[in-house]
Amino acid sequence: MSKCELCNEVHNVEVREEVQQMEFKGVAFVYKAKFLYCPSLDELFEDETLLNENDKVMKDVYRKKVGLLPSYEIAKIRKEYGLSQKALSKALGWGALTITRYETHQVQDKVHNDMLKKIDKDPEWFLELFCEAKEEFSQKQLEKTIALANQKIISMCNDKILNEIKELYSDYAVDDDIDTTKIRGIINFFAEKIDYLYTVKLMKLMWYVDNIFYQKFSRSVTGMQYQAFPMGALPIGHTRLIELPGIHYIDDSMGRRFVCKDAKSIEAMSKDELQVMYLVFEKYGKLSKDDIVELMHGETAYKETEKFAIIDYKYSEDIKI
Ligand SMILES: [Zn+2]
Repeated sequence: MSKCELCNEVHNVEVREEVQQMEFKGVAFVYKAKFLYCPSLDELFEDETLLNENDKVMKDVYRKKVGLLPSYEIAKIRKEYGLSQKALSKALGWGALTITRYETHQVQDKVHNDMLKKIDKDPEWFLELFCEAKEEFSQKQLEKTIALANQKIISMCNDKILNEIKELYSDYAVDDDIDTTKIRGIINFFAEKIDYLYTVKLMKLMWYVDNIFYQKFSRSVTGMQYQAFPMGALPIGHTRLIELPGIHYIDDSMGRRFVCKDAKSIEAMSKDELQVMYLVFEKYGKLSKDDIVELMHGETAYKETEKFAIIDYKYSEDIKI
Protein backbone atom coordinates (compact mmCIF):
# COMPACT_ATOMS: atom_id res chain seq x y z
CA MET A 1 0.00 0.00 0.00
CA SER A 2 1.23 3.45 -0.81
CA LYS A 3 -0.14 6.85 -1.44
CA CYS A 4 -1.43 7.09 -4.99
CA GLU A 5 -0.09 10.16 -6.75
CA LEU A 6 -3.17 10.36 -8.89
CA CYS A 7 -6.04 10.30 -6.38
CA ASN A 8 -4.04 10.95 -3.19
CA GLU A 9 -5.61 7.95 -1.46
CA VAL A 10 -3.66 5.12 0.07
CA HIS A 11 -4.17 1.92 -1.94
CA ASN A 12 -2.29 -0.71 -3.88
CA VAL A 13 -0.62 0.80 -6.92
CA GLU A 14 0.29 -1.90 -9.39
CA VAL A 15 2.66 -1.52 -12.34
CA ARG A 16 1.23 -2.40 -15.73
CA GLU A 17 2.99 -2.77 -19.05
CA GLU A 18 1.32 -1.39 -22.14
CA VAL A 19 2.38 -1.47 -25.76
CA GLN A 20 2.63 2.05 -27.10
CA GLN A 21 2.45 3.21 -30.71
CA MET A 22 5.00 5.89 -31.29
CA GLU A 23 6.25 8.21 -33.95
CA PHE A 24 9.56 9.82 -33.12
CA LYS A 25 11.66 11.90 -35.53
CA GLY A 26 9.47 10.67 -38.35
CA VAL A 27 9.92 6.98 -37.53
CA ALA A 28 6.96 4.87 -36.44
CA PHE A 29 7.41 1.94 -34.03
CA VAL A 30 5.98 0.30 -30.93
CA TYR A 31 7.53 -0.05 -27.50
CA LYS A 32 6.51 -1.32 -24.09
CA ALA A 33 5.93 1.35 -21.47
CA LYS A 34 5.27 0.88 -17.76
CA PHE A 35 2.42 2.63 -15.99
CA LEU A 36 0.96 2.79 -12.53
CA TYR A 37 -2.69 1.86 -12.22
CA CYS A 38 -5.13 3.66 -9.98
CA PRO A 39 -8.19 1.40 -9.36
CA SER A 40 -10.18 4.22 -7.76
CA LEU A 41 -10.14 6.31 -10.91
CA ASP A 42 -9.52 3.33 -13.22
CA GLU A 43 -6.68 5.19 -14.86
CA LEU A 44 -3.08 4.57 -15.83
CA PHE A 45 -0.49 7.17 -15.01
CA GLU A 46 3.28 7.71 -14.88
CA ASP A 47 5.27 9.09 -11.99
CA GLU A 48 8.54 10.89 -12.67
CA THR A 49 10.67 7.74 -12.44
CA LEU A 50 8.52 5.85 -14.92
CA LEU A 51 8.30 8.86 -17.17
CA ASN A 52 12.09 8.93 -17.48
CA GLU A 53 12.32 5.17 -17.76
CA ASN A 54 9.68 5.01 -20.51
CA ASP A 55 11.33 7.84 -22.38
CA LYS A 56 14.62 5.95 -22.32
CA VAL A 57 13.00 2.68 -23.42
CA MET A 58 11.21 4.47 -26.26
CA LYS A 59 14.38 6.17 -27.46
CA ASP A 60 16.35 2.93 -27.25
CA VAL A 61 13.81 1.24 -29.50
CA TYR A 62 14.10 4.18 -31.87
CA ARG A 63 17.90 4.07 -31.79
CA LYS A 64 17.96 0.37 -32.59
CA LYS A 65 15.49 0.89 -35.39
CA VAL A 66 17.66 3.53 -37.08
CA GLY A 67 20.95 1.75 -36.38
CA LEU A 68 22.20 3.83 -33.49
CA LEU A 69 23.67 2.40 -30.30
CA PRO A 70 21.04 2.13 -27.55
CA SER A 71 21.85 3.84 -24.25
CA TYR A 72 22.81 0.59 -22.49
CA GLU A 73 25.33 -0.24 -25.22
CA ILE A 74 26.94 3.16 -24.75
CA ALA A 75 27.16 2.49 -21.01
CA LYS A 76 28.63 -0.94 -21.68
CA ILE A 77 31.35 0.42 -23.96
CA ARG A 78 32.18 3.11 -21.41
CA LYS A 79 32.41 0.65 -18.53
CA GLU A 80 34.71 -1.63 -20.50
CA TYR A 81 37.24 1.19 -20.34
CA GLY A 82 36.53 1.83 -16.66
CA LEU A 83 35.42 5.41 -17.27
CA SER A 84 32.72 7.58 -15.73
CA GLN A 85 30.29 9.36 -18.03
CA LYS A 86 32.20 12.60 -17.54
CA ALA A 87 35.59 10.97 -18.10
CA LEU A 88 34.53 9.36 -21.38
CA SER A 89 33.15 12.70 -22.58
CA LYS A 90 36.51 14.26 -21.78
CA ALA A 91 38.46 11.52 -23.51
CA LEU A 92 36.41 12.07 -26.64
CA GLY A 93 36.76 15.83 -26.40
CA TRP A 94 33.03 16.29 -25.98
CA GLY A 95 31.08 18.48 -23.56
CA ALA A 96 31.24 17.19 -20.00
CA LEU A 97 27.60 16.06 -19.91
CA THR A 98 27.37 14.58 -23.41
CA ILE A 99 27.67 10.91 -22.42
CA THR A 100 25.36 11.39 -19.44
CA ARG A 101 22.72 12.71 -21.81
CA TYR A 102 23.25 9.89 -24.30
CA GLU A 103 22.85 7.33 -21.55
CA THR A 104 19.58 8.91 -20.47
CA HIS A 105 17.32 11.03 -22.62
CA GLN A 106 19.19 12.37 -25.63
CA VAL A 107 19.60 10.50 -28.91
CA GLN A 108 23.16 10.89 -30.18
CA ASP A 109 23.85 12.16 -33.70
CA LYS A 110 25.41 9.88 -36.30
CA VAL A 111 28.91 11.39 -36.06
CA HIS A 112 29.07 10.77 -32.32
CA ASN A 113 27.50 7.36 -32.78
CA ASP A 114 30.19 6.36 -35.29
CA MET A 115 32.85 7.50 -32.86
CA LEU A 116 31.37 5.42 -30.04
CA LYS A 117 31.18 2.41 -32.33
CA LYS A 118 34.78 2.92 -33.34
CA ILE A 119 36.09 3.03 -29.78
CA ASP A 120 34.27 -0.26 -29.21
CA LYS A 121 35.67 -1.96 -32.31
CA ASP A 122 39.11 -0.40 -32.21
CA PRO A 123 40.55 -0.19 -28.69
CA GLU A 124 43.98 0.75 -30.07
CA TRP A 125 42.50 3.85 -31.62
CA PHE A 126 40.73 4.67 -28.37
CA LEU A 127 43.96 4.25 -26.44
CA GLU A 128 45.65 6.81 -28.69
CA LEU A 129 42.79 9.23 -28.22
CA PHE A 130 42.77 8.67 -24.48
CA CYS A 131 46.50 9.17 -24.14
CA GLU A 132 46.32 12.42 -26.11
CA ALA A 133 44.01 13.72 -23.40
CA LYS A 134 46.06 12.26 -20.55
CA GLU A 135 46.54 15.60 -18.76
CA GLU A 136 42.83 15.48 -17.99
CA PHE A 137 43.05 12.31 -15.92
CA SER A 138 44.54 11.14 -12.66
CA GLN A 139 47.41 8.65 -12.67
CA LYS A 140 45.06 6.04 -11.23
CA GLN A 141 42.50 6.58 -13.99
CA LEU A 142 45.21 6.45 -16.65
CA GLU A 143 46.57 3.16 -15.39
CA LYS A 144 43.13 1.60 -15.03
CA THR A 145 41.91 2.59 -18.50
CA ILE A 146 45.15 1.73 -20.26
CA ALA A 147 45.13 -1.72 -18.61
CA LEU A 148 41.50 -2.31 -19.58
CA ALA A 149 42.08 -1.12 -23.15
CA ASN A 150 45.06 -3.45 -23.48
CA GLN A 151 42.98 -6.29 -22.13
CA LYS A 152 40.34 -5.53 -24.75
CA ILE A 153 42.97 -5.47 -27.50
CA ILE A 154 44.26 -8.87 -26.39
CA SER A 155 40.84 -10.42 -26.08
CA MET A 156 39.79 -9.16 -29.51
CA CYS A 157 42.99 -10.51 -31.05
CA ASN A 158 42.38 -13.81 -29.30
CA ASP A 159 38.78 -13.99 -30.57
CA LYS A 160 39.86 -13.16 -34.10
CA ILE A 161 42.38 -16.00 -34.21
CA LEU A 162 39.98 -18.39 -32.49
CA ASN A 163 37.35 -17.65 -35.13
CA GLU A 164 39.86 -18.23 -37.90
CA ILE A 165 40.79 -21.57 -36.37
CA LYS A 166 37.12 -22.52 -35.95
CA GLU A 167 36.58 -21.64 -39.59
CA LEU A 168 39.36 -24.07 -40.53
CA TYR A 169 37.78 -26.74 -38.34
CA SER A 170 34.45 -26.38 -40.06
CA ASP A 171 36.13 -27.51 -43.29
CA TYR A 172 36.90 -30.81 -41.58
CA ALA A 173 33.40 -31.26 -40.21
CA VAL A 174 34.73 -31.49 -36.69
CA ASP A 175 33.09 -29.37 -34.12
CA ASP A 176 35.23 -29.00 -31.06
CA ASP A 177 35.38 -26.50 -28.32
CA ILE A 178 38.82 -25.08 -28.79
CA ASP A 179 40.23 -23.64 -25.61
CA THR A 180 42.80 -20.94 -26.35
CA THR A 181 43.52 -20.48 -22.64
CA LYS A 182 44.67 -24.09 -22.40
CA ILE A 183 46.67 -23.85 -25.64
CA ARG A 184 48.48 -20.84 -24.23
CA GLY A 185 49.07 -22.61 -20.92
CA ILE A 186 50.54 -25.72 -22.54
CA ILE A 187 52.81 -23.82 -24.94
CA ASN A 188 54.15 -21.58 -22.19
CA PHE A 189 54.65 -24.55 -19.88
CA PHE A 190 56.93 -26.30 -22.37
CA ALA A 191 58.55 -23.08 -23.54
CA GLU A 192 59.51 -22.31 -19.96
CA LYS A 193 60.97 -25.76 -19.31
CA ILE A 194 62.71 -26.47 -22.61
CA ASP A 195 65.51 -24.16 -23.75
CA TYR A 196 65.43 -24.82 -27.46
CA LEU A 197 61.83 -25.57 -28.28
CA TYR A 198 60.84 -25.39 -31.94
CA THR A 199 57.52 -25.89 -33.69
CA VAL A 200 57.81 -29.56 -34.68
CA LYS A 201 58.69 -30.74 -31.20
CA LEU A 202 56.19 -28.45 -29.51
CA MET A 203 53.33 -29.74 -31.64
CA LYS A 204 54.22 -33.35 -30.82
CA LEU A 205 54.33 -32.55 -27.12
CA MET A 206 50.90 -30.99 -27.42
CA TRP A 207 49.61 -34.06 -29.20
CA TYR A 208 50.91 -36.25 -26.41
CA VAL A 209 49.33 -34.01 -23.77
CA ASP A 210 45.96 -34.05 -25.52
CA ASN A 211 46.08 -37.78 -26.21
CA ILE A 212 47.36 -38.97 -22.85
CA PHE A 213 44.76 -36.76 -21.21
CA TYR A 214 42.17 -38.31 -23.51
CA GLN A 215 43.33 -41.77 -22.52
CA LYS A 216 42.73 -40.90 -18.87
CA PHE A 217 39.65 -38.67 -19.03
CA SER A 218 38.02 -39.34 -22.44
CA ARG A 219 38.51 -35.79 -23.66
CA SER A 220 41.40 -33.68 -24.89
CA VAL A 221 42.70 -30.62 -23.07
CA THR A 222 42.72 -28.13 -25.94
CA GLY A 223 39.85 -29.39 -28.12
CA MET A 224 42.20 -29.46 -31.10
CA GLN A 225 42.24 -32.09 -33.82
CA TYR A 226 45.57 -33.24 -35.22
CA GLN A 227 46.45 -34.24 -38.75
CA ALA A 228 48.99 -36.87 -39.71
CA PHE A 229 51.79 -34.93 -41.39
CA PRO A 230 55.01 -36.62 -42.55
CA MET A 231 56.79 -35.14 -39.52
CA GLY A 232 54.04 -36.30 -37.19
CA ALA A 233 50.92 -34.80 -35.71
CA LEU A 234 50.07 -31.17 -36.35
CA PRO A 235 46.94 -29.50 -34.99
CA ILE A 236 44.60 -27.94 -37.52
CA GLY A 237 45.30 -24.24 -37.53
CA HIS A 238 48.76 -24.56 -35.98
CA THR A 239 50.13 -21.59 -37.92
CA ARG A 240 47.34 -19.44 -36.48
CA LEU A 241 47.34 -20.65 -32.92
CA ILE A 242 50.98 -19.73 -32.37
CA GLU A 243 49.96 -16.13 -33.07
CA LEU A 244 47.60 -16.11 -30.09
CA PRO A 245 48.30 -13.30 -27.64
CA GLY A 246 50.52 -14.50 -24.80
CA ILE A 247 52.49 -16.87 -27.03
CA HIS A 248 55.98 -15.74 -28.02
CA TYR A 249 58.62 -17.07 -30.33
CA ILE A 250 61.89 -15.87 -31.80
CA ASP A 251 62.71 -16.56 -35.43
CA ASP A 252 66.25 -17.90 -35.38
CA SER A 253 68.36 -19.89 -37.83
CA MET A 254 66.62 -23.12 -36.80
CA GLY A 255 63.07 -21.81 -37.12
CA ARG A 256 60.57 -20.60 -34.56
CA ARG A 257 61.95 -20.94 -31.07
CA PHE A 258 59.28 -20.65 -28.40
CA VAL A 259 59.96 -18.65 -25.27
CA CYS A 260 57.74 -18.13 -22.26
CA LYS A 261 56.96 -14.53 -21.46
CA ASP A 262 53.64 -15.22 -19.82
CA ALA A 263 54.24 -17.78 -17.07
CA LYS A 264 50.98 -16.72 -15.43
CA SER A 265 49.09 -18.35 -18.28
CA ILE A 266 50.23 -21.75 -16.95
CA GLU A 267 48.06 -21.15 -13.88
CA ALA A 268 45.02 -21.74 -16.08
CA MET A 269 45.82 -25.46 -16.16
CA SER A 270 44.01 -27.81 -13.79
CA LYS A 271 45.80 -30.22 -11.49
CA ASP A 272 45.01 -33.19 -13.75
CA GLU A 273 46.20 -31.32 -16.81
CA LEU A 274 49.43 -30.27 -15.13
CA GLN A 275 50.04 -33.83 -14.06
CA VAL A 276 49.77 -35.01 -17.67
CA MET A 277 51.94 -32.10 -18.85
CA TYR A 278 54.67 -33.02 -16.33
CA LEU A 279 54.47 -36.63 -17.43
CA VAL A 280 54.88 -35.64 -21.08
CA PHE A 281 57.74 -33.33 -20.17
CA GLU A 282 59.55 -36.05 -18.18
CA LYS A 283 59.05 -38.62 -20.90
CA TYR A 284 59.53 -36.64 -24.10
CA GLY A 285 60.80 -33.21 -23.08
CA LYS A 286 64.47 -34.05 -23.51
CA LEU A 287 64.11 -35.90 -26.80
CA SER A 288 65.50 -34.27 -29.91
CA LYS A 289 63.13 -33.31 -32.66
CA ASP A 290 64.18 -36.34 -34.74
CA ASP A 291 63.74 -38.73 -31.81
CA ILE A 292 60.27 -37.47 -31.04
CA VAL A 293 59.26 -37.64 -34.72
CA GLU A 294 60.52 -41.23 -34.86
CA LEU A 295 58.69 -42.10 -31.67
CA MET A 296 55.52 -40.64 -33.05
CA HIS A 297 55.87 -42.67 -36.25
CA GLY A 298 55.80 -45.77 -34.07
CA GLU A 299 52.48 -44.89 -32.41
CA THR A 300 49.40 -46.87 -33.48
CA ALA A 301 47.59 -43.57 -34.01
CA TYR A 302 50.12 -42.62 -36.63
CA LYS A 303 50.38 -46.00 -38.31
CA GLU A 304 46.61 -46.36 -38.59
CA THR A 305 45.97 -42.89 -40.00
CA GLU A 306 46.27 -42.02 -43.66
CA LYS A 307 48.58 -39.20 -44.61
CA PHE A 308 47.05 -35.79 -43.83
CA ALA A 309 43.91 -37.34 -42.34
CA ILE A 310 42.72 -36.46 -38.88
CA ILE A 311 44.15 -38.68 -36.19
CA ASP A 312 41.36 -40.28 -34.21
CA TYR A 313 41.59 -39.85 -30.44
CA LYS A 314 40.50 -43.48 -30.02
CA TYR A 315 44.09 -44.55 -30.69
CA SER A 316 45.22 -42.72 -27.59
CA GLU A 317 44.54 -45.93 -25.62
CA ASP A 318 47.59 -47.49 -27.29
CA ILE A 319 50.06 -44.85 -26.10
CA LYS A 320 52.38 -46.41 -23.53
CA ILE A 321 52.91 -44.27 -20.49
ZN1 LIG B 1 -5.34 6.22 -6.91
